[in-house]
Amino acid sequence: MGQNQKIVVVGSSNTDMIIQVDRFPVPGETLLGKDFRIFPGGKGANQAIAAIRLGGDVALVARLGRDLFGDQSLENFKKEGLNVQGVVQDKELPSGVAQITVDAAGENTILVASGANNALSTAQVSEHAGLLESADFILMQLEIPLETVTFIVEKYGSTGKKLILNPAPAYHLPVKMYADLHAIIPNQAETRFLTGIRVTNEDTAVHAAAFFHEKGVEVVVITLGAAGAFLSSPDFTGSLPAPEVNAVDSTAAGDTFIGAVTAGLCTGMDWKNAVIFANRAAALSVTKFGAQSSIPFLGQVEKHF
Ligand code: ADP
Repeated sequence: MGQNQKIVVVGSSNTDMIIQVDRFPVPGETLLGKDFRIFPGGKGANQAIAAIRLGGDVALVARLGRDLFGDQSLENFKKEGLNVQGVVQDKELPSGVAQITVDAAGENTILVASGANNALSTAQVSEHAGLLESADFILMQLEIPLETVTFIVEKYGSTGKKLILNPAPAYHLPVKMYADLHAIIPNQAETRFLTGIRVTNEDTAVHAAAFFHEKGVEVVVITLGAAGAFLSSPDFTGSLPAPEVNAVDSTAAGDTFIGAVTAGLCTGMDWKNAVIFANRAAALSVTKFGAQSSIPFLGQVEKHF
């Protein structure tokens, strides 16, 4: 292969704090939970870490607080080998956190305080323009201000760089944004939110993909959980199944998939092979608990499949 194109991920970083409970507390109640665990998370950070573990050359643009969680996240990014020139610690706002409770039935409640993620502004992006200009692929999600995502798409959409959007969590997007996206990668729920189409088979997937193509997106990938993914691209259209695995926790499966697709593309794979590779990496991630702790390394994917 030889070439390894550069990926810049602009997105969120959170710290997930999880308490296991027998049942959820009701308002006004104090309840004793079981174990407390802390995991690094946030879609931007997860996808950046997936991309680098799976062979990508990755820089992250993110915003943390100047607090314990921010310091830990930054250390973690460095340990993973990410380029952190674009990671800023906000002087005032706290780091983003997610408080998660999981009950005995495996149901969860999640409360997110975005903190510094909400201040990942167009100004921060402009301050790190050099980083974005050096990118071949720019990968984004929607856990940072939509204004910042829109700004990046407008600025870099017609420069020959490949912009990939994971529209999660789902928001209605400005229609003109689509024409500047190389690819969009929603899951089934996000696809339904954005297109109004419930993807249940190949016909409905083609239909949903057409919604995005008509607005100018070149490549559409709809992730289908255990069923794998549907790819609609100029070279190949069809479903690509995920390998069967013993699934224990699907947290960050989507993030692993998206990081893996981007890493695959930047190491020279075509879209079809990148999706096959991403299905393998994401399937492996659901065999382990946690978010970043479940993201596999390239060697593990190659060994398994
Ligand atoms: P999200 O995590 O965003 O909801 P999906 O549930 O569609 O996204 O999962 C993303 C990818 O993870 C799928 O395209 C597939 O490759 C993989 N995956 C998810 N669940 C399973 C599973 N039970 N078995 C194998 N692969 C899975």
